[in-house]
Amino acid sequence: MARTRLQKCTACGAYGFSETCEKCGAQAQAAGPMRFSPEDTRADIRRKLKDVESKQWAANLPSPEDEEE
Ligand SMILES: [Zn+2]
Repeated sequence: MARTRLQKCTACGAYGFSETCEKCGAQAQAAGPMRFSPEDTRADIRRKLKDVESKQWAANLPSPEDEEE
C-alpha cells in the first residue's frame, strides 16, 4: 500500500491507518473515496500510454454484445 490514508474497520467501525483493524483485527477499508479532479492533468499522458487513438484499442472496449454470452 503506497498511500497512507485513513482506514475504517468493516467490523467495528474504528478508524486507523492500517488495513487491519487495531482493535478487533478485522479488515479495514479506505474511509473516503480517492481524490478526484475534473481537471485531470495526467489524462493526456494516460491516453498516450494506452494508445487510445488506435483501432486496436477501440476494438478491445467492452460492448453490451459481449455481456450476452
Ligand atoms: Zn475493528
